[in-house]
Amino acid sequence: MKVLIIEDEKELLNSISTYLRMEGYVCEEACDFQEGSEKINVYEYDCILADIGLPDGNGLALVELLKTKLSNTGVIIISARNSLEDKIKGLDIGADDYLTKPFNLSELNARIRSILRRRKFEGKKEIDFHEIRANPETLKVFVDQKPILLTKKEFDLLIFFIANKNKVLTKESIVEHLWGDYIDSADSFDFIYAHVSNLRKKLVENGAIDYLQTVYGVGYKFTDHD
Ligand code: CA
Repeated sequence: MKVLIIEDEKELLNSISTYLRMEGYVCEEACDFQEGSEKINVYEYDCILADIGLPDGNGLALVELLKTKLSNTGVIIISARNSLEDKIKGLDIGADDYLTKPFNLSELNARIRSILRRRKFEGKKEIDFHEIRANPETLKVFVDQKPILLTKKEFDLLIFFIANKNKVLTKESIVEHLWGDYIDSADSFDFIYAHVSNLRKKLVENGAIDYLQTVYGVGYKFTDHD
């Protein structure tokens, strides 16, 4: 799960991203409006946290920018003051949630998870694909009813495949989703290959059908069609 944090208070920015990384998210940071809007324009995120009071602009305008992209990205607005007006405006233009500083990081994590559940998995606690079932909260995976053990990267890869079933996923989009934009792509394609083959092997060895197709020269497709 990839999160963009847009916050100009360096210390807060640091503590949020350190915490979320520990919780297994891929985090990217932006410390002003300019940087935030550039990242929103170029990359896809699962969730964005946007501070309203940025030195060079209003975080609410970032929410509006995101909505013009017709993106499925979740948004949480962070505000320094408990302003009902900001809150209503934010929710009106399409933010999913609103947090007032100071907030508890575990509270933030719970809000992000609930948004991801709502947006990515249509409100379900688990996502499934035929005999494969995965729970993003407990990180548990089952083939039929049998639990199987995946690494965090294999788990994220599986969720990404199922959420994008029947679509071709390029190696670039997989790298970006699982490692963020700071990884040099050329090197990381070997990594992907290793993670994909391990995931495939574990699924098949535990009785799942091999749904993974290699799209030569492009990437992969997780599908039940030929
Ligand atoms: Ca601020």
